[in-house]
Amino acid sequence: MKSFEKNIRKVEPYVPGEQPRQKVIKLNTNENPYPPAPGVKKILENMDADRLRLYPDPTSGELIKALAKYYGVGEDQVFAGVGSDDVLSMCFLTFFNSEKPILFPDITYSFYKVWAGLYRIPYECCALDGNFRIVKEDYYRENGGVIFPNPNAPTGLYQELGDVEDIIRNNQDVIVIVDEAYVDFAGKSAVGLVDKYDNLIVVQTFSKARSMAGMRIGYAISNPLLIRYLNDAKYSFNSYTMNPLSIACGAEAVRDRAYFEEGLRKITETREWAKEQLSGLGFSCLDSKANFIFATHPQYDAGELFKALKEKGIYVRHWDAERISQYLRITVGTREEMEIFFDFLRRYMK
Ligand SMILES: *Cc1c(COP(=O)(O)O)cnc(C)c1O
Repeated sequence: MKSFEKNIRKVEPYVPGEQPRQKVIKLNTNENPYPPAPGVKKILENMDADRLRLYPDPTSGELIKALAKYYGVGEDQVFAGVGSDDVLSMCFLTFFNSEKPILFPDITYSFYKVWAGLYRIPYECCALDGNFRIVKEDYYRENGGVIFPNPNAPTGLYQELGDVEDIIRNNQDVIVIVDEAYVDFAGKSAVGLVDKYDNLIVVQTFSKARSMAGMRIGYAISNPLLIRYLNDAKYSFNSYTMNPLSIACGAEAVRDRAYFEEGLRKITETREWAKEQLSGLGFSCLDSKANFIFATHPQYDAGELFKALKEKGIYVRHWDAERISQYLRITVGTREEMEIFFDFLRRYMK
């Protein structure tokens, strides 16, 4: 081994879902099947390339302003980044700086473990119960911080806001991050609690409900003090994270509330219909409130089914991991895409 090896910051990286270049039915990474708000297309078409000579606004002001207005919070309560992965990673770096372990569920977004590894943050996982629910009492102990998604991924289960609040209230000596990547499909956001609890950060994304995964926009909402700490870390890392297109398109998407709500309605309707179809085929599905469904079949091996689907150009997600290896995570696509998926299943199971 070369002696420089021991000085290298080694890390077990996150493995993103496949992004095939050929045309497939893509139900594997929870993207939105509908286009972004029409105003976003207009901005892209009218973009003057000359603007790229200049550095963007380091404060992402236009986007921050639109988000602050949408949520009814101060502009000093919003932080933006390059996808919520960037925002979450900045949060780990800034707030999880204790010798005590941070806590998150055993079955959850697999990036949490990766950031903990990268930043050398000790962590412990709290097991979901037999129904894949978060057990809130498991988080009522000494720790260096808490993070969980609501709804959780890949289960899709939404934890009622009262439970979320209990976790926040029982952890007032540390920072609690609620990762709400899917909350718009689900129910009430914890954003309404940021003025009540000074230890809370809520993180959201444009990648799922707002159909802009390719644009890379995420944000955090909290109190002005924690947002300032986040900005201090950001400006110590890279001041110009958001490019001018992301700032303009993001702000435009937020301003078009009607289009957003119509999109949510279509996805949740298709989700509920797809759950019924899956049950009809003998699957058991968790009661997902997100834009994906976590399902298992008593007779068909999930790994085999995953492969058979892929051969037909239908991509879903499967993890060969403890407790969930017999489950598939199926993103809710358009009604037409889901019909193709179900046609395949009906033939496969005959
Ligand atoms: C998709 C996802 C993210 C990351 O989304 P970005 O595309 O980086 O904004 C974060 N957390 C969870 C739970 C997700 O599913």
